[in-house]
Amino acid sequence: MEELEQHSDFRVRVRKWLGDNLPADWKSQMLGASDDDFVKFQKCWFHKLREGGLATPHWPREWGGGGMSFAEQIVLYQEIARAGAPRLILYFIALHHVPATLLKWGTAKQRQKHLPAILGGDEIWCQGFSEPNAGSDLASLKTRAVRDGDHYVVNGQKTWSSNAHHAKYCLLLARTDAEAPKHKGISYFILDMKSPGVTLKPIKQMTGESHFNEIFLDNVRIPRENLIGAENNGWAVAMSTLASERGLSVLELAERMRYNFQQLLDLAKNRTYRGKTLLEDDEIRRDLVTISVRIRALGALVNNMLTRMMRDDSTSVEPSIIKLFYSDLLRDFTALGVKMSELDGQQTQPILMGGGNETGNWMHDYLYSWAWSISGGSSEIQRNIIAERGLGLPKEPRTA
Ligand SMILES: Cc1cc2nc3c(=O)[nH]c(=O)nc-3n(C[C@H](O)[C@H](O)[C@H](O)COP(=O)(O)OP(=O)(O)OC[C@H]3O[C@@H](n4cnc5c(N)ncnc54)[C@H](O)[C@@H]3O)c2cc1C
Repeated sequence: MEELEQHSDFRVRVRKWLGDNLPADWKSQMLGASDDDFVKFQKCWFHKLREGGLATPHWPREWGGGGMSFAEQIVLYQEIARAGAPRLILYFIALHHVPATLLKWGTAKQRQKHLPAILGGDEIWCQGFSEPNAGSDLASLKTRAVRDGDHYVVNGQKTWSSNAHHAKYCLLLARTDAEAPKHKGISYFILDMKSPGVTLKPIKQMTGESHFNEIFLDNVRIPRENLIGAENNGWAVAMSTLASERGLSVLELAERMRYNFQQLLDLAKNRTYRGKTLLEDDEIRRDLVTISVRIRALGALVNNMLTRMMRDDSTSVEPSIIKLFYSDLLRDFTALGVKMSELDGQQTQPILMGGGNETGNWMHDYLYSWAWSISGGSSEIQRNIIAERGLGLPKEPRTA
């Protein structure tokens, strides 16, 4: 991407900063770390990035952010991936979803209260959108919020809420008009997680960690001033939340995979079976070549999308194609790691690093890879989007 060449000084500066500040042993620090250690480490890395002016590159300067151009942000994420630096997974909602939502729809008071506190590292947020029967079809959500003077009284249940057990606030969707068509009766709230009536129940994942939670809401009172946007306009607000990260996460993940491929190659070079290295085995070589080509294809897809975004900001169905391609590739990439590391590769343990393909434990990363085919819109939903919006195939019938 030629636009990025103009930022070579910035690239050098970021690379040097990461070289000087990234703890070389951060992954081993996190192996077997407790929940508290994980939180402490994420906070510490967030503060370090803040001092370096690299934690909030996309935030406007007036709110204490870096105000960086899209091209500079691409450079930054490329360098973070190259260095194998930790992802700020605990702050993901606070750093991306909250500002995108509050800067467009929030009141001055809501912005003043929360944006500086997030920058100070004090506010971790979670997202309370999904419910047991409202995930892909989010607009079917049933959690009710009923006006009572200066408050709303909320009852219902949310599920799959990542890091809710660490969060101070939650971006909450609830139904305020049960009679309206389903997209039109939803409102959007800031929920203080310490409010009476909020109960959390962790959900154990197949990797052994409990990264998600169910949230039970029993007569929870939310002040009216915590409504974001107008009552019953929550669906439009939620669309701003979900559109917030503009392809940079997937860029970073695709880049990481390119560097992590070296781990597979090292394994193939160093491991022997019946007197030969795995790299000398025809089947393994074929598998490695296939994965390597798919990683290059992913890189090309991401580059095309980002180039278009830098020039005219239109992305059509590319994010869906890339998400689908990445999820399938991550699964096959980590499965190959499991296969090549034989019995050692079957062992796993809970690891708190925030997901992705980066813990170095192949079985853990393989099991976690399945999450990518569900979160942020499942693979089936991505296929529907590609079919309907990309290929112009008939839409599936929708309920009102
Ligand atoms: C790692 C991870 C983190 C998450 N974090 C959060 C969070 O912080 N906050 C939050 O609110 N939610 C979160 N979620 C929930 C996530 O948004 C939902 O899991 C997702 O939207 C799918 O919804 P569901 O699980 O209810 O599955 P369902 O919608 O019930 O789908 C079940 C199956 O049916 C398929 N399906 C559904 N509809 C269609 C259709 N129209 N056509 C074809 N197939 C279909 C799906 O693909 C899936 O295979 C997270 C999920 C994961 C995996």
